[in-house]
Amino acid sequence: TNTSKRKGSELTGDERPAVKAKPRSEKNRVLVTGGAGFVGSHLCDYLVARGDHVICLDNFFTGSKDNIAHLLDKENFELIRHDVVEPILLEVDQIYHLACPASPVHYKYNPIKTIKTSFIGTMNMLGLAKRCRARFLISSTSEVYGDPLQHPQTEEYWGNVNPIGERSCYDEGKRAAECLTMDYHREHGQEVRIVRIFNTYGPRMALDDGRVVSNFVSQALKGEPLTLFGDGKQTRSFQYVSDLIEGMVRVMDNDEHIGPFNIGNPGEFTMIELAEMVKKVVNPNAEFMWVENTADDPSRRRPNITKAKTLLGWEPKIPLQEGLLRMVDDFKKRLHIEEGTSKA
Ligand code: NAD
Ligand code: UDP
Repeated sequence: TNTSKRKGSELTGDERPAVKAKPRSEKNRVLVTGGAGFVGSHLCDYLVARGDHVICLDNFFTGSKDNIAHLLDKENFELIRHDVVEPILLEVDQIYHLACPASPVHYKYNPIKTIKTSFIGTMNMLGLAKRCRARFLISSTSEVYGDPLQHPQTEEYWGNVNPIGERSCYDEGKRAAECLTMDYHREHGQEVRIVRIFNTYGPRMALDDGRVVSNFVSQALKGEPLTLFGDGKQTRSFQYVSDLIEGMVRVMDNDEHIGPFNIGNPGEFTMIELAEMVKKVVNPNAEFMWVENTADDPSRRRPNITKAKTLLGWEPKIPLQEGLLRMVDDFKKRLHIEEGTSKA
């Protein structure tokens, strides 16, 4: 026929081979990269409990098998040891892309690997999402706002980030990951979602994590002084992990809005106020120790969450004091502190 002589690009809509419908599995197949980490393991718990088929992928750089050990015998949970810097072939419907060290101590340990994880890792996972026609969610960070000149931070704010500093491997890595995510969306029409996570804490944070809440809680439990960096007047807004998971799932499952969405708790505290609260809740005898601050430490941070509230009906529920209490038992167990024997 005449049509067979035409070039592919000249085929009319009717003549084009039909795009094969994506086979629908009974279960939603969800990939969670970084699934053995602090946030990832809580997300796996949530998705497994609601009946999704969850594939947890992790290279165990900062994550741990202990975090997901209780899921290993579930029929709807699989674990793959893999590094996202290398491509992988899987069949999935949704991808939560979390793989990336998140604590400054960990991401500065091997900064080149950190930015490779953010850029190449995200590119690989977006490529996988494209092949599977899966919806892709990137776990970005409040660090994209850098040391913010706008306060509180809305999603429209472009940030104030040092491109060549010690935190850049993480901050700029995440900014590049957001950029890639939007470019895959614009060029290929992919379904993407962006969450900007503000400081989150809770059970299963690594004991050597180095982040402020886990430091203070384990120091207080061990009867060691709480290490306050700099003048302790810098602020952060702390979100309990269950609130984050609720928000991330809302962002992923909503059919209209790409984001970015700030997901955080707007309660803002100086590090001195946080130390006072840990002292009150965990160990009234705790002492403070002043330590030199790290480079480029943002002086304040607080999310404006109007967008997530208005478009998704999401807001955090757990206040700081209650969240701290909820993580104490887990930290006691892992620090081998028996009830009644802590220095508290
Ligand atoms: P985490 O360090 O506990 O978890 C990160 C997980 O990713 C770990 O299990 C680690 O082993 C894995 N990982 C790292 N590099 C990898 C690689 N190359 N290949 C495969 N796996 C790799 O940190 P988290 O707090 O659970 O953070 C999870 C995500 O949330 C990160 O993307 C982080 O940037 C983002 N985030 C977290 C916070 C927070 O306060 N917890 C704030 C902002 C953003
Ligand atoms: N910080 C502190 N003592 C610690 C660890 C951190 O005072 O033992 C401070 C740190 O200087 C920063 C804030 O706590 O101002 C939050 O640091 P974290 O590493 O938890 O997260 P991020 O800097 O990424 O927000």
